[in-house]
Amino acid sequence: MFMPPSAVGWRMEWLPPSWCPKVVVIDIDGTITDGKKHLSMQAVESIRRLEDAGVPVVLATGNVRPITYGLWRFLGLSAPMCCENGGVLWHPSWKEPMLRATASEAKEAAQWLATQLEGVDPDGIATNRWRESEWCLYPDDPLESIVDAMNRSAWSHLSVVRTGFAIHLMEPHLSKGEGLRVLFDRMGWSVDDALCVGDAPNDLPMFELLHWSVAVGGAFEVVAQAANVRSPHPHGATFPPLVNAILARRAEALN
Ligand SMILES: [Mg+2]
Repeated sequence: MFMPPSAVGWRMEWLPPSWCPKVVVIDIDGTITDGKKHLSMQAVESIRRLEDAGVPVVLATGNVRPITYGLWRFLGLSAPMCCENGGVLWHPSWKEPMLRATASEAKEAAQWLATQLEGVDPDGIATNRWRESEWCLYPDDPLESIVDAMNRSAWSHLSVVRTGFAIHLMEPHLSKGEGLRVLFDRMGWSVDDALCVGDAPNDLPMFELLHWSVAVGGAFEVVAQAANVRSPHPHGATFPPLVNAILARRAEALN
């Protein structure tokens, strides 16, 4: 039986030596929510402790701006948010969101796919009604057939990225990494000061960009392997010990 390191008395090393994040970037779906999309109260409390300690928390998600904004507001966050896998960057104090693509080509591609592949619903997932930069099909739609069809279509330049919750059709320059690069530049932050937490392949570009990455328990295996730290705790249960480690390191650094 697998025993998490903490259960067998090992000291879990959440952070590299002599380093403390000044910004924490977190994915939403599958990271602070579980497979049923239920929000982890442990994660909520931990995220508030970071903000209370002066560590801004950036939500970096494939989800849409209205949903991300609601969570941002109710969590009590201060930092800008990175929505739709980097396609939409926004802070409520900004006059306009930064839209880095339009959803029109991805939507056309979805309509064409529905004519080619049985069972593909071009309307896709419910949050498409608010999408501003990409389009999402259902996660159980046939990924391999979609990729094959897209490769021989007029939309072969679009990326097809699967998360646990959707298949994203998006312009190839869109990724959480590219979106966060723009967001960090705008804020004057260094990527060397940032830690991120995620669970799915759309988190890999932010793992590449930012200094330190944590995969929650329950992450896709490819994501757990790419992370600097693999959490022994599922989803949101990762956050209490991770945030304890960050705040302890921060207290050391301040003393
Ligand atoms: Mg996720």
